[in-house]
Amino acid sequence: MGSPGHPPSKGYNSYGVYLREKFAGQRVFKVIVDAGLSCPNRDGSKGYGGCTYCNVDAFTPLLPRSLSAIRAQIEQGMARARDNYAAEKFIIYFQPNTNTHAPVATLRALYDEALAICPQDVVGLAVGTRADCLDPEKISLLESYARHLMVDLEMGMESIHEATLLKLNRGCTHHDLVTILGLLENSPLNICVHTVFGFPGETREMLLAYAREINRFPQIKFVKLHHLHVVAGSIMAAHYQRAPFKLFELDEYTDFLCEFLPLLRPDIVVQRLFGIADWDLLIAPNWGMKKVRIQTHIDQAILRRGIVQGSEWSSVRVTNT
Ligand code: SF4
Repeated sequence: MGSPGHPPSKGYNSYGVYLREKFAGQRVFKVIVDAGLSCPNRDGSKGYGGCTYCNVDAFTPLLPRSLSAIRAQIEQGMARARDNYAAEKFIIYFQPNTNTHAPVATLRALYDEALAICPQDVVGLAVGTRADCLDPEKISLLESYARHLMVDLEMGMESIHEATLLKLNRGCTHHDLVTILGLLENSPLNICVHTVFGFPGETREMLLAYAREINRFPQIKFVKLHHLHVVAGSIMAAHYQRAPFKLFELDEYTDFLCEFLPLLRPDIVVQRLFGIADWDLLIAPNWGMKKVRIQTHIDQAILRRGIVQGSEWSSVRVTNT
């Protein structure tokens, strides 16, 4: 992490560095749990068919997809992270679907069950959801875990532009997100928003405006930045195959990030700079590289060009006031 006068070593606040500093150098990994919850945009409580870009499988690694019991998912996820990455501590991450889309009692039972497995090695809970599936009672349940764990609440922002969200059949507006952010103003939860860059119809200026919008909310601590990718099984895939539209090439996306990061508030931690989907599901853009090589490509460009997160933030602030 950077500090005033000391830019972060990677040019941006990377999540890996953040975790190492927070947990005294221990190797902390997320273990993904599929709790079998639904999504209100698929089960009819909000809509049908889901967001046009979504195929839930594209965002879920193979292991949780193939195991049902929460205990088995967690034990095997931990074992794999220990074997492959020498993981020492874990964040239990409820990722697929909408992980607050159930009554509070059900949610409590699920979170409690997961956190009771190997508790000595669990340092955090992360819950991915939509803003329209949160209310004061659910927030207070999540906050109860923050007394002894790091608790991340991850919400899809996707786009800040209502017209785009409507076209995406998102069923959750930016206004919904802003309302929930209002409830989280003094919360002990770590708020993370997930954005997607490159939806059809959004110009570069519209994308850069995401930074100004995120910066407005001091309660946002983490961001996950993704480029739009088209995945098999999504409605967008059918549109794309009928009439392909422009998607980011790797160098274009790198250029975009190099413009975006200087505008982003310097205290925000970047959990992710780009999206990744399984090869078998990815339709486009296929950058022909594995995750590690894409990360290196982007990281090197950021360093080579002397990009510093937040270096233009104060001028953005002055312009806005
Ligand atoms: S992106 Fe999230 S909210 Fe949209 S359909 Fe997929 S799981 Fe549901």
